[in-house]
Parts: sequence; C-alpha cells; structure tokens
Amino acid sequence: MNRTASLTALERELVAMIAAEGPVGVDRYMTLCLGHARHGYYMRRDPLGRTGDFTTAPEISQIFGELIGIWSATAWQTMGEPSPFRLIELGPGRGTLMADLLRAVRVVPEFIEAARVALVETSPALRQSQDETLSRLGVAVDWHFRLEEVPPGPTLLLANEFFDVLGVQQFVRTATGWHERLVGIDDSGKLAFGLAPDPLPPAVLPDWAEAAAPGEVVEISPARDEAAQAIGARLKAMGGAGLIIDYGHVRSEPGDTLQAVRDHAYQGLLDRPGETDLTSLVDFEALGCAFAKGGAAVHGPLTQGAFLSAMGLAERTEVLKRHADMNSRMDIDAASKRLAADTQMGHLFKVIAATHPDLPPPYPFKEPSA
Ligand code: SAH
Repeated sequence: MNRTASLTALERELVAMIAAEGPVGVDRYMTLCLGHARHGYYMRRDPLGRTGDFTTAPEISQIFGELIGIWSATAWQTMGEPSPFRLIELGPGRGTLMADLLRAVRVVPEFIEAARVALVETSPALRQSQDETLSRLGVAVDWHFRLEEVPPGPTLLLANEFFDVLGVQQFVRTATGWHERLVGIDDSGKLAFGLAPDPLPPAVLPDWAEAAAPGEVVEISPARDEAAQAIGARLKAMGGAGLIIDYGHVRSEPGDTLQAVRDHAYQGLLDRPGETDLTSLVDFEALGCAFAKGGAAVHGPLTQGAFLSAMGLAERTEVLKRHADMNSRMDIDAASKRLAADTQMGHLFKVIAATHPDLPPPYPFKEPSA
C-alpha cells in the first residue's frame, strides 16, 4: 500500500481540530504529534535502534550508561551518601541507560541498596520496554507521568535526549515585527505552515532575539523552561544533582532547528504526523537559566566528547576490547568513536549538571573561572 497516499489518523484529527479551532503554534503541533494519547509518535511504538527511526547514545554503546553510573555514584558520595534517595530518569527510552548504570555501580553496593528508581515516562509502549529491560536486574522501579509525582527525597536525576522532544514555539522576524509560526490548513485541506497575522507585543521575546535578521526564526520553549525550573526547585528543596544530555547549542541564538526524522532519514515537518519524530536543538543557556531560576547551581555545559573522555571513555573501551573477539573489537571502537568524535555526536551533544547550591561542582565540571 502506498502509505503517503493516505492521511495518518493523527493528521485527520489535526485537520478537523484546526478547521474548528484555528491554527496552532509549533509547540502544540509538536506536543500533539509526539504525545497525543492515541496517535502520538511515542505512545505506541519503540522508535529506537536500527529497526526504528533513530539511535541514541545508550543504544550505541553500553559504555555510555556505565560512565554515567560512575558519575552518579561519585555525585551520590559528594551528597553524603543519603539513604534512601531517588534515582530519577526522565524519558528513559528502553531503560538501557538505567540498566547499564545499575550494572556498573554494583561495585558500590550501598548505592544500589539506597537507590529508589523512579522513571518519568508518558508512553505505555516504552514503559513496557523499560520494565522488560529492568525487571531482569531485580531492581524495584516506579513509574510516573511527571517529575512532580515522584515522592520527595534526595535526588539524582538523569535525562538523555528528553528535553529535545519538549515543544518549542517559533517566531519569525518580519518588517511588521515578530509573528508566531503556526500550523494551519491550506486551500486543499492539507496541513501547512503560516504566520500569525498579528505581531507580538513588545518584550515577549528574550533580549537575544534582537540578534535575528529579518526573515530569521527564533525558538523558545516554555515547556523546557518549566521542566528545568522544576528540576532546579527539586534539587534546591531536597538536595541532590542532575545530569542532562542532549543535542543543542551553548548560547541562545536565532535559528530554525526543528527537524523531523523517520527511518533514520530527515522528513518534511508536516510529513506523516504521529509516525515521525519531531525534535529541535536544546538551548543550553536557557536551560541553565531555568535551573538557576528554580534555585540550583549550574555546571557546564561540556561537550559530550569532553565529558565522556574525562569520565574514562578510552580506558573503558580498552577494557571491553580485551574481552572481545576481533570483529567485536572493531564494533566497540566504532561505537566509542561515534559517541565522542567531534564529527559525530561528541561536539553537537552537550552535558550540563545542576546541583543543590551547597554542593561543589561534580567531576568533571569545574568552578567557573571568574
Ligand atoms: N533517553 C532515552 C530515550 C530518548 S527518546 C535514550 O536516550 O535512549 C525520548 C523519551 O522521552 C522516550 O522515552 C519518550 O517516550 C519520552 N517522553 C516523551 N515525551 C515525554 C514527556 N512529556 N514526559 C515524559 N517522557 C516523555
């Protein structure tokens, strides 16, 4: 059957909704495409890995989760080894990072005994996948829909490729001011991009938006700011540390970074809604500001390459290779390179930490030089 000939179930719903209620912002479009209760991209499928649409760092190499395990155990010791504590992961995918982490920190049995694992996940399909991965390890796991639902307690929080799926608003600079980019329907009844007719009132956008040239787009994300501020507030109130990894840029800057991916290839942003992943680059400056607004101290960002190297990527790669045959040795090398090389994920991906303000910068983050 020619899949492109027919509309997706979500597309039909979106067209009907927009016909009744008018165009929606890009953030709402993203949220519906990814999280719609019945037809959202993440809700029914496991999109990860070679047979899915994209591959994430934990799926590339077990070393990723192992090094984050070492980071976590060290941060927990710096926190004064609270027992129990909440080991929280946002958007855990298949549970691979958490499984590799827990395996690596078996050498610190007190950490495992003290950890209460809490997974924040909206997708029933991925919750099942996480359960399958983690039940084999004999660790008790609780699931939650939102961070706010996780019971109180000292916190170690992890999130890899979670913030990029939270929606962004886009605004275009024109001769008549800033206009929000919207998804509406065109004359033939299909989804189409357009601009809100009325310009934004002054001072809605942050100051850095002034750097945009006419025709350029700026992206802001109230959803990401809110999530990061909630993390900052939790760390401040309950103590602890968080490590967030994602692709993005260090400074807030103009640019349209929204992208659609299906089957390991870029797609049109309006193509097969609900069957296509939609993400945009994470603005780490905005993320840091939101952590600080919540009350946390912010460390970094570092590039993923610099972070993994400092955590011992090369050494761990050699250890793994020692126990492998020739072919596997080449695979292990290639996977480590993919994670850390500047031309692959090493530079585009960034790692930022947030902690209770009384904690020192967790290794390998350093005091900011004044
Ligand atoms: N961290 C995993 C998966 C990244 S994909 C990895 O690195 O492999 C994004 C993950 O976030 C998926 O598990 C998806 O179901 C989940 N997710 C998407 N939107 C969410 C939301 N609003 N709240 C919680 N989890 C969400």
